[in-house]
Amino acid sequence: MMDPLLVALDVDTPAEARALADRLRGIVGGFKIGSRLFTSHGPGFVEELVGRGDRVFLDLKFHDIPNTVAGAVGAAARLGVWMVNVHASGGLDMMKAARAAADEESAKVNMAPPLVIAVTVLTSMNEDMLGEVGVHGTAVRQVERLAALAQQAALDGVVASPHEIEAIRALCGERFAIVTPGIRSATDAKGDQNRTASAAGALAAGASHIVVGRPIIAAPDPRAAAQRLAAECTPPSKALQ
Ligand code: C5P
Repeated sequence: MMDPLLVALDVDTPAEARALADRLRGIVGGFKIGSRLFTSHGPGFVEELVGRGDRVFLDLKFHDIPNTVAGAVGAAARLGVWMVNVHASGGLDMMKAARAAADEESAKVNMAPPLVIAVTVLTSMNEDMLGEVGVHGTAVRQVERLAALAQQAALDGVVASPHEIEAIRALCGERFAIVTPGIRSATDAKGDQNRTASAAGALAAGASHIVVGRPIIAAPDPRAAAQRLAAECTPPSKALQ
């Protein structure tokens, strides 16, 4: 199944991102545009992909006062993105404002609202770093606390490392998106990712989507790499049906 596989277009220019999207369209379930490409080139490229019918995950991790986040999420909804995210640590009111803005702005333009998901704890943070910013206790406990808060705000899900998938799935139930980066096969370079899992492993643990960057975009043949990963996202029993 191709739908769970989202590709991070972590490149510097729209030309490179366009070339990648053109090679991968039809094989993967969507494209993630992050702060790097968005800050340098703005919303035009998002509109371009949306205009081609691509599912776009706008990964800008908004974290501000509720009114400002509502404005930003509303703008993302008007762009027609399929998924957008905020930081759960912005609090319940901020997340509720994001949900309301997504729903209201997309209704105005007769579109389905984007999935609004929350970042819990950045995977670059360890427990010492959490302590430095005043968060004591285990990282998993903090992830659980913030995932429950995101669900209370009626958000659609969270971003989580492979390490945290099972705890969130157990806590938040089946109808909650868990979007998981840090996907590596045994032969991939890990780069700066510490807690990794294979695509099949993350989905078996309960992830609804996986986000893959370098294992596809830095591969000698990105299309072949995406095809291998998409195949890994199909459980063998279902492939036979
Ligand atoms: O290249 P790689 O497969 O590591 O790319 C993973 C993508 O997911 C990157 O765009 C990275 O910014 C993003 N991401 C992450 N960990 C998070 C949130 C987002 O790796 N906790």
